[in-house]
Amino acid sequence: MAQRPIELPPEHLYPPDNWRVVETGYSEPYAHRGESAFSLSNGYVGIRGTFDEGRPAHTPGTFVNGFHETWPIVHTEDAYGLARSGQTIVNVPDATILRLYVDDEPLYVPTARLRRYERVLDMRAGTLCRELDWSTASGKHVSVRSCRLVSLEHRHVAAVQFDVVVHDRAAPVVISSEVLNRQDVPFGDDESGRPAVVDPRRGARLRRRVLEPVTSAADGLRIGLGYRTASSRMTLGVATDLSVETDAPYEARCTAGADGGAVVVTVDAQPGVAIRVTKLISYQTSRAVPPDELVQRCGRTLDRVARDGFAALAAAQRAQLDRFWDRADVHVDVGELTPRTQQAIRWNLFQVAQATWRAEGAGVPAKGLTAASYGGHYFWDTEIYLLPMLTYTRPRIARNLLRFRHSMLPSARDRARELGQRGAMFPWRTINGREASAYFQAGTAQYHINADIAYAIRRYVNARGDIGFLAEVGAEMLVETARLWEDLGFYADDGEFHIHGVTGPDEYTTVVDDNAYTNLMARLNLGYAAEVVRILESERPEAYAALADAVGLLPQEVLAWERAASAMHVPFDEERGIHPQDARFLHHEVWDLGATPPEHFPLMLHYHPLDIYRHQVIKQADIVLAMYLLGDEFSDEHKRADFAYYDRLTTGDSSLSASVQSIVAAEVGDEQAALRYFRRALLMDLADVAGNASDGVHIAAAGGVWQTLVFGFGGVRDHDGEISIDPRLPATWRRLEFSLRVRDRQLRIRLEQERERYLLESGDALELRIRGERVRLVPAEPHELTGPPAGTPAGPS
Ligand code: BGC
Repeated sequence: MAQRPIELPPEHLYPPDNWRVVETGYSEPYAHRGESAFSLSNGYVGIRGTFDEGRPAHTPGTFVNGFHETWPIVHTEDAYGLARSGQTIVNVPDATILRLYVDDEPLYVPTARLRRYERVLDMRAGTLCRELDWSTASGKHVSVRSCRLVSLEHRHVAAVQFDVVVHDRAAPVVISSEVLNRQDVPFGDDESGRPAVVDPRRGARLRRRVLEPVTSAADGLRIGLGYRTASSRMTLGVATDLSVETDAPYEARCTAGADGGAVVVTVDAQPGVAIRVTKLISYQTSRAVPPDELVQRCGRTLDRVARDGFAALAAAQRAQLDRFWDRADVHVDVGELTPRTQQAIRWNLFQVAQATWRAEGAGVPAKGLTAASYGGHYFWDTEIYLLPMLTYTRPRIARNLLRFRHSMLPSARDRARELGQRGAMFPWRTINGREASAYFQAGTAQYHINADIAYAIRRYVNARGDIGFLAEVGAEMLVETARLWEDLGFYADDGEFHIHGVTGPDEYTTVVDDNAYTNLMARLNLGYAAEVVRILESERPEAYAALADAVGLLPQEVLAWERAASAMHVPFDEERGIHPQDARFLHHEVWDLGATPPEHFPLMLHYHPLDIYRHQVIKQADIVLAMYLLGDEFSDEHKRADFAYYDRLTTGDSSLSASVQSIVAAEVGDEQAALRYFRRALLMDLADVAGNASDGVHIAAAGGVWQTLVFGFGGVRDHDGEISIDPRLPATWRRLEFSLRVRDRQLRIRLEQERERYLLESGDALELRIRGERVRLVPAEPHELTGPPAGTPAGPS
């Protein structure tokens, strides 16, 4: 696989630290990506890591999950059934801004004379704090401390506490607390409305006004603004409250207009007398509630939160994160590199928490809420890259996300009908449930999303034992997705069931016949749907009757799914002993990755799709992903052969690739490759591996990091509800510790070179397979293995 070298940011600017990401100075080259890395979010509201002063701001952004604008997709060469409805997440008014002036001089970090500067993302506290000492042009020494959070406890709330002390002499101090509609300020792109740099991963930008002002009010020190989006007609309320604490004399003035508001606090600052400004922020969005009502709701939320103040918000934040880390932390000892590695691991896990914690009723955008890239759309990233971690650490959140998929079922049914199919066809990318991918070859054609959802349901239900979920919503999704596969595929003359005209996960090969990943996952989807229907029929007859009634299920349908599953064609090339990625893949010319200039990656930004499609070259793990997800369906020999064949063709141009390559490399015993890919996934954003870290956090890659640790080096598998663990601890690692939540039991696993410890911390006894042996774990009696290094490959999983 072609790989550019990984360059870590310099340690003097970003020192390693176990629990915090620390920035010790302002540096222009790292400022833009810092806006992503220091983002805060609770899965409902997200704020990029811009400075309190609101500038410099490369791509400032505040987002509310699901709050989007629509626009007609114009296909100049139209065709039937193409996606019509463009959807773009809206940059909602930025309420973080707190501009500081001392003696009328604004604090502007890049040019200010700073005696000290430190910005810290504290992953246990869930805060972004900045402390600096500033020498003003008039020779005053000013200490400024700010602390920002997006509340995990209160879904609609963010807050900033801002402290200023002028040390030596009295000075006029002005703090201007602002709310600013940045969505509708002009930006400097070209006439076409496309960003100056063409990069399909960035979202479409709208060149017209999006937020129509409906209400704005200044009341005391409260600002309330209400908007409606011009086309999607969604509504938004935002409110901020300011409180000022100081013994110095001050006055405050509040104004509001269509595109923002300000509370200007003017203080006669006295030497050494603290000035504290606390800003509470609330956002609410809706499809139906009028903006002024939303503003009032924000106000009521702020009243409630203000009673307990910022300290209570911060305490609740820490308590929430204590719970998260207790379940989700992965602890490593890799020798000298431990602090840097540990820091990056935790940062990635923290990103998954931030993107999903309060996402109830919504999905998870590809960039979380750290940027508008990919339009704020939900993809398969959620089911395949995030849900594994959530299923085994925060199953309630996994359930919410799957329930959210279910809410899209009506649109998915309509879409299937439009495409001439039975059942349901989930959109490749969407916010509102309708397909938003204008490029069907790498969009709608990715039918595998249906099976990815089914796979995630099965994993969740097995890991949590939540049959109730199947009865409630899961079975309905399984039935409708199975129907689609059975209708989409056909029996060819060879008597096998084939699926043609689809795109697999690898977007460098599109619209193909019998993509192996798709066929294998569809087989699972068909088989599992049949199994679930039968389970409900025998164990929950009422739920079965309700399901049969709701979806008009006929007994012969289940037989048809089973027949299609057992006749599914799985391409295999006897001569090479590998699975072809699809029916024609091996006939193509091999792309010479060695001869491709490093600056030509990612290929999609430098070569026409046709050039790419006619070659054997891979964007991201495809068959290799199937080997991981469906590991019990491949022999060890095939895993080794397939990995060796496809690894050399894989560019890793998608950030989703590295983690999967690492997991399978670990399994086939290629430790060096496993470590190399792990490092890429781990540092995807912190070292800007993909070169676009400033465009938002690669959330799927972050979820992949957990998987490389637990499934890759930890060697955990859960094939159809049976947990097996075959550790692959790298020889250079001293320790790897992680937890798993399985059917209400808490498992803690510690792997060292000479010792392994498997502890069932709570819950009933659990049977699993450890290094091929069947083991019954009982609470508080750790199962310990000592002896040969844990890294010794233990054969097939
Ligand atoms: C990848 C897709 C992914 C999307 C969003 C694309 O570059 O190829 O697999 O779903 O990014 O992360």
